[in-house]
Amino acid sequence: MNLHELTIHDAQDLLKNKEISAKELTRAVFDRIDTVEPSVDAYISVTKDIALSQADAADKAISGDNIKTLTGIPLAVKDLICTKGVATTCASKILKNFIPPYDATVTEKLNAAGAVMVGKVNMDEFAMGSSTENSGFKVTKNPWNLSHVPGGSSGGSAAAVAADMCLGALGSDTGGSIRQPASHCGVVGIKPTYGRVSRFGLVAFASSLDQIGPLAKDVTDAAILLQVISGYDPKDSTSIDKPTPDYRAALPGGIKGLKIGIPKEYHASNGMSPDVLSAVQNAMNFYKDAGAELVDISLPHSEYAVAAYYLIAPAEACSNLARYDGVKYGVRDKESSGLIDMYRNTRSSGFGPEVQRRILLGTYALSAGYYDAYYKKASQIRTLIKNDFMQAFEACDIILSPVTPSTAFKIGENVDDPLTMYLSDIFTLSANLAGIPGLSVPCGISGDGLPIGLQLMGNYFAENTILNAAYYFEQATEFHKLRPKI
Ligand code: GLN
Repeated sequence: MNLHELTIHDAQDLLKNKEISAKELTRAVFDRIDTVEPSVDAYISVTKDIALSQADAADKAISGDNIKTLTGIPLAVKDLICTKGVATTCASKILKNFIPPYDATVTEKLNAAGAVMVGKVNMDEFAMGSSTENSGFKVTKNPWNLSHVPGGSSGGSAAAVAADMCLGALGSDTGGSIRQPASHCGVVGIKPTYGRVSRFGLVAFASSLDQIGPLAKDVTDAAILLQVISGYDPKDSTSIDKPTPDYRAALPGGIKGLKIGIPKEYHASNGMSPDVLSAVQNAMNFYKDAGAELVDISLPHSEYAVAAYYLIAPAEACSNLARYDGVKYGVRDKESSGLIDMYRNTRSSGFGPEVQRRILLGTYALSAGYYDAYYKKASQIRTLIKNDFMQAFEACDIILSPVTPSTAFKIGENVDDPLTMYLSDIFTLSANLAGIPGLSVPCGISGDGLPIGLQLMGNYFAENTILNAAYYFEQATEFHKLRPKI
């Protein structure tokens, strides 16, 4: 097996037994990047010098038997997570020169665990999108079929993992941005409970929804990464002071007696691709045959999730993005004649069309006279959606559903149709509105050879329950072993 194809847990063993060195592993990943990155375009910046010196340090640590969880493991980081001294652009022209003077808490945690940073990966600008086509720099391609999107907004993370250009990656999920690209690229992605992982140093899109999480080649790797980045952080007032369980150790827990909720609203066939529907149904049958109990549940307010999300997220975004004005951060338009002119020109040329659309939507939803009709109503719906989940979790332990209605669409297919693009998040948004954890695990391949993901959602802080159920499925199936032929 080529070294770049290794999972994190396999690489951990080989490094620990000194069968490979961190330097060899890191070089293998960079060779892989040289070969496939020209066709995939997953990276915004590749940090080879940093990686090689981190790999050196890892090899020294290994020879002194001072091994930490991620010692010598090459990882990629979504380009909206601050990395001290390394450009963090959010895939936006307005931040193309921004070099953070500090590390995000998750970056610090990766460093402290001995990880090797391969580079910063592409995304939709400020994480607004579902295809990575909204990047201000380039479009990432799906390694399974280069004419299709990798999903988004963490499309660079998912594509880099799927194409073996890193062993794992961090992404962020505000409405589905870890789970949907994971599903489209045939990798595992988990959005943790809101508050499980610190957001300090994550460039804010919609602060009440954003959460950082891992994308990985299998469930074990996702559990390992989640373990490293989780935990209370006094620097993030929304992070929650609750001990982190040992996710990896708990994986073989089994599923006997597990109650799996099947929401009737998420399994209607209208608008769903038949391939997705049948893969998800096969997964349901698998669990039933394995001794789980399938329970019919209802999430009656989920039909309003898209509308509520697309008011709340833009409202928060327009306020978060007000800071990019040419004065405090990032690029400034130098041709302008006065202050107002400078603001206007900086923001008009620095932000792409989708970001501008969200700012306009959000400003409208928050403006006097409209606030009660839009933002307030959306917030009320959010509470109803949360209550639906709380009621459902009285009858079941986890909820099973598709991740997205279809497999990865073609590049360009939906760019002029924001509404269709927004609808691709229909099954993922509710978990963010409620704050509960959700993951995507590969569960099928469509007739045209594209991966399909299965979504499992859990109650607050029940990451271990959904990871265990995903692990059980994974161990009995081969989907996670299928790799794109690139
Ligand atoms: N696709 C959704 C949006 O465009 C979700 C993005 C995300 O989770 N960051 O807002």
